[in-house]
Amino acid sequence: MFKKILIANRGEIAVRIIRACNEMGIQTVAVYSEVDKDALHTQMADEAICIGPAKSKNSYLNMQNILSATVLTGAEAIHPGYGFLSENSKFAQMCEECDIKYIGPDSNNIDNMGNKLKAREMMINAGVPVVPGSDGEIVDETNALQEAEKIGYPVMIKASAGGGGRGIRVVSKEEDLVSAYNTAKTEAETAFGDGTMYMEKFIEEPRHIEFQILADEHGNVIHLGERDCSIQRRNQKVIEEAPGVVMTDELRKQMGEVAVKAARSINYKNAGTIEFLLDKYGKYYFMEMNTRIQVEHPITEMITGVDLVKAQIRIASGQVLPYKQEDIKIQGHAIECRINAENPNKNFMPCPGEIKTLHIPGGYGVRVDSAAYQGYKIPPTYDSMIGKLIVLGRDRDEAICKMRRALGEFIIEGVDTNIDFQFKIVNNKNYIKGDFDTSFISKEFQNL
Ligand code: ADP
Ligand code: ADP
Ligand code: MG
Repeated sequence: MFKKILIANRGEIAVRIIRACNEMGIQTVAVYSEVDKDALHTQMADEAICIGPAKSKNSYLNMQNILSATVLTGAEAIHPGYGFLSENSKFAQMCEECDIKYIGPDSNNIDNMGNKLKAREMMINAGVPVVPGSDGEIVDETNALQEAEKIGYPVMIKASAGGGGRGIRVVSKEEDLVSAYNTAKTEAETAFGDGTMYMEKFIEEPRHIEFQILADEHGNVIHLGERDCSIQRRNQKVIEEAPGVVMTDELRKQMGEVAVKAARSINYKNAGTIEFLLDKYGKYYFMEMNTRIQVEHPITEMITGVDLVKAQIRIASGQVLPYKQEDIKIQGHAIECRINAENPNKNFMPCPGEIKTLHIPGGYGVRVDSAAYQGYKIPPTYDSMIGKLIVLGRDRDEAICKMRRALGEFIIEGVDTNIDFQFKIVNNKNYIKGDFDTSFISKEFQNL
């Protein structure tokens, strides 16, 4: 097992990883930007090294500085968390070359799955059903019009390098296609430095169902069931739950086997997520694979009892998965609300600033993963997510009641948050009935 791990991230996920290391008796090294000098992850790690100014480009994305910090502190492995360098194949490759263990899949896997066009192609070859769409890249406006005609409206234009819901546009009629294609392409070029676009059939009123995978370095691959992440705003997840409301044991078995097959076909290693769309007729399609730990991983931990971050570290150290598929049992129902410093009444505008008062909910079945503390100043530089509230109930009804109760206890003063908005969602009658799809928020909260 590793003696020391460097965490190339910040915020709640850095804290989450430090906690896992701590329990495993592994020393931790935090890296931080100048503005994160007093951040919780900087304070909690055994050692902390400043890697540059606030801007991510100069700090959390600065591969040279992060690798130097690793060598300097004698850390043997790097955990990339999510976001930042977690899906950067060049970084994984540089780690490989420097003989530093990257806690995640190898650079090849990241490269192939990070390119969504390539991922589609590989999944088609592996016999995994994908969303009907363009064969390859959409090269120009004329090509876009031709492909849309072939696929049939409505269509979705997507960035091959996309992530975080950006570089995506839905087009319902021909007149709107060219301008949507151009704006999505420009957005992708700005956000990802890569304007490669493709097109998919827009699946109407689908659920986002994703499967958690664990694969060791000895050829063992299992899944840990699904998460329903259909409660989204602008293609970004807001609430996730596990298991999925509409899932049956049979569908879980089927989709789980497809997810395992997908991971196996690319010789995948470590933790990963296969995202599917499940349409209203019960047909499912591969959408993308995320080659990293996911924001919503705790809900899977709550219902399976498997600590996914520890599993990642154990896998990276070469250990064999200690469980087989049949050992994974799902118990109870878990829900996660992402808590963001933002104002839902001002178009969800981020609201950085000082947390003047903080009261964190607790009690049986309540978990808060956060890097916030009273007096902490949320910098304007990074993501507005300041924590995650996770509950585990015996069943979905109990989980919803617990979430309402816990949201009610949560007090954050000094910055605007989406806590009240989350409260409205978990009190919505269609949400309570489990009657929702990815269009839920835009339909139910039109005035926002
Ligand atoms: P998850 O399924 O884990 O919620 P998200 O797509 O929401 O994944 O991404 C998790 C984090 O990573 C978010 O902070 C998001 O902004 C960031 N992220 C994801 N993909 C990219 C990308 N290609 N470039 C930059 N940031 C990304
Ligand atoms: P990202 O990398 O940004 O997470 P995804 O490909 O996972 O991109 O898509 C993000 C979200 O957009 C999905 O969770 C889903 O709600 C929606 N979406 C993506 N593709 C389609 C599609 N073909 N039809 C309908 N909705 C889609
Ligand atoms: Mg996705």
